[in-house]
Amino acid sequence: MTPQRHTKILATLGPASNTKEVIKGLLEAGVNIFRLNFSHGTHADHSAVVKIIRGLEKDMNRSVGIVADMQGPKLRIGDFENDKIALEIGQTFRFDLDAAPGNETRVCLPHPEILKSLEEGSAIFLDDGKVRARITKKGDDFVEAKIESGAALSNKKGLNLPGAVIPIPALTEKDKVDLVAALDMGVDWIAQSFVQTADDVAEAKALINDRALLMVKLEKPSAIENLEEIIHLADGAMLARGDLGVEIAPEKVPATQKRVVRYVREQGKPIVVATQMLESMITNARPTRAEASDVATAVYDGADAVMLSAETAAGDYPVRAVEIMDRICRYTEEDETYTEMMAISHPDTMDGDPSDAITAAAYYVSQDVDAAFIVTYTLSGSTALRMARQRPEVPILCLTPDVNVARRLSVSYGVISVFDPETGDDDFIGPARHAAKIAIEKDIGDKGQTFVMTAGVPFGEKGSTNLLRIAEVG
Ligand code: PGA
Ligand code: MN
Repeated sequence: MTPQRHTKILATLGPASNTKEVIKGLLEAGVNIFRLNFSHGTHADHSAVVKIIRGLEKDMNRSVGIVADMQGPKLRIGDFENDKIALEIGQTFRFDLDAAPGNETRVCLPHPEILKSLEEGSAIFLDDGKVRARITKKGDDFVEAKIESGAALSNKKGLNLPGAVIPIPALTEKDKVDLVAALDMGVDWIAQSFVQTADDVAEAKALINDRALLMVKLEKPSAIENLEEIIHLADGAMLARGDLGVEIAPEKVPATQKRVVRYVREQGKPIVVATQMLESMITNARPTRAEASDVATAVYDGADAVMLSAETAAGDYPVRAVEIMDRICRYTEEDETYTEMMAISHPDTMDGDPSDAITAAAYYVSQDVDAAFIVTYTLSGSTALRMARQRPEVPILCLTPDVNVARRLSVSYGVISVFDPETGDDDFIGPARHAAKIAIEKDIGDKGQTFVMTAGVPFGEKGSTNLLRIAEVG
């Protein structure tokens, strides 16, 4: 048996990896769940990729999750007469509503509500923070800013207003259309970009209407400030360090990561650490030491999943990037320090919740009897999430009669989710024997090994987890 990797790998698909051949390679290298980036590509492109993934999922007999990532209100400047301009430190530069191509002195910022909300003295970052400007003058339909750093700008560069709560909702008209298309394709998660408040989350949840789960992307300082209310409504979260790292100072990113991972995990919801994890592998066959450390840090922090972006979407070594990420995760998970860190950080169970009590007990029993794995039977996925929250050292085999639940759980720590229609029957019997058989099939259990099992009985009825059993693989 190969030891199971607990930390999941989420890989973004794109031009470098949109084919059946590469997607298969990515799955074999260890990808658990894919991200489709709706900032790029047509619905037809994404739909074709979804079909490929579903086909491979069947061929390879495993559950694979799909996240559809909405572009959100990414602010961009307009075009320039000659596509790009040089900038000088100290010069004045104007942002206005004039759709005419820009030049060395001005460019269009096609967002009237943003122009209106800007204040004298506040900062504007462009091109992922490479250009920084400060507003010196504000007019009705323009602002003037002094360039403080940066040398050049080109067409449609992104714009960040660090710290500001921008007066536009986190779902644009394009997002609403994309969201419905993604749901029709049967994706498992919708990722919502630039969430700022709980109201943003509520709006997305209402549109999704339980057809998928919602992963909020934490990439605005206001999302970190409103973390509790936002996570309360969301089903999971992504620490999107690309945009977040532009909006907050770099020295604040690591502590924020630790706090966010810990909090979301305590709430029993999956947390993904994302962006620039193996960035240099976009063009190099090996990562830097700093990148290896970054992936390991996310693992030590107890993240559910680590993500690859351009490394797999547009890089030269998509499959290799996953192989390296897999190796870093596995090696880190074998480290004694890691085991100790997971063992001392068990979140409190919710008071008085019987399902929680059984799950926590099952975790401790699994330690005492040296169980080789834990089995959870689940209809909704909640029992598996509760167990994942405990961060057990052994795999969690999750058996569910709902294929969507199996796919959604692919992002969760330590969970091997298996779509198992039989367990939906009312007269389903012999759960321990059945689980043992699947554990052997999935290469996580062997004859003679002990395992611990939780379920809600009777089967086929939604309800709380009420059974804890110790069994042996016979
Ligand atoms: P993006 O999100 O790749 O869609 O921008 C991730 C991030 O900002 O880190
Ligand atoms: Mn982003």
